[in-house]
Amino acid sequence: MEFCPKCESRLVPKKEKTVKKISLILVCLKCGYKKQALSNKVAPKVAKIIQPHPQKLVAVIGREEQKLRTLPTIKIECPRCGNNLAYVWQVQTRGADESSTQFFRCTKCGYTFREYS
Ligand SMILES: [Zn+2]
Ligand SMILES: [Zn+2]
Repeated sequence: MEFCPKCESRLVPKKEKTVKKISLILVCLKCGYKKQALSNKVAPKVAKIIQPHPQKLVAVIGREEQKLRTLPTIKIECPRCGNNLAYVWQVQTRGADESSTQFFRCTKCGYTFREYS
């Protein structure tokens, strides 16, 4: 406990706000004497600025498109637009037909056609 050097009354601890920080001071309520309290320094509360992580831009690819991207391509003429490249995949046909049917999809116009044998 500290006393005022001027009037000898008790000093009251008070928080003094400045632009930069909050400091603890001792104030005499009687004469208005102010004394900087060296101990018990109040650390200014710094608001933490949390930078939100920018969401990664995820390219939206349709399932069908994604599937097609993994498909191999073959040089075949598209009956619709005459393009010479098409995706190729095989579909196992059930039943009496033992062989699988090859399907093509034009890389240009997306026209899907099957192998004519
Ligand atoms: Zn005083
Ligand atoms: Zn085509």
